[in-house]
Amino acid sequence: MINEEKTAETLRNVELSLATIHDREDGVVVGRDGSVLLYQRGTIDKVSVDGRLIKDNIFTHNHYNGMCNLSVGDVVSFIEDGGYETRVVTSDGRYVSLKRGNGVRNTSLGKDMLMVCRDRKFVMGVLRRTMEKYGRVGLPLRNKELENAMNEWLNSNAVKYGYIFTQGRHEP
Ligand SMILES: [Zn+2]
Repeated sequence: MINEEKTAETLRNVELSLATIHDREDGVVVGRDGSVLLYQRGTIDKVSVDGRLIKDNIFTHNHYNGMCNLSVGDVVSFIEDGGYETRVVTSDGRYVSLKRGNGVRNTSLGKDMLMVCRDRKFVMGVLRRTMEKYGRVGLPLRNKELENAMNEWLNSNAVKYGYIFTQGRHEP
């Protein structure tokens, strides 16, 4: 069981607060009853939490670099830890969420996502899209398109693995 109303309210508050951090990644574990179980301060490029705390719970963290997508590492550890939901928030209040569906799950989602992201076709596709859209391929623009491409992939594929992917934005 999950308290949808309370978890949504807690996540909104927690993520609007995480969105204000500009120099490190912090993470918060929220229980399915909507209570905050842990606030973990992270470092410049990662935040680590004991997997036993993540199990069956919701984990959210900030990407202060502005990339509003779950990294392959985020997805792999979410599945390994048996989390209920994993989320990322950026400083503009946007968020993405991956959570368990109701049916059988195929836990190779993370592994397959890694294969896709490493594939030359995918990497070249991101470059080509960046070039087409902006006429140049500086890193911030490329990261923007990488974010889009990774979210599109999860949006089309998560459900095939028994997971639910959503994107949204907290209005302040
Ligand atoms: Zn992350």
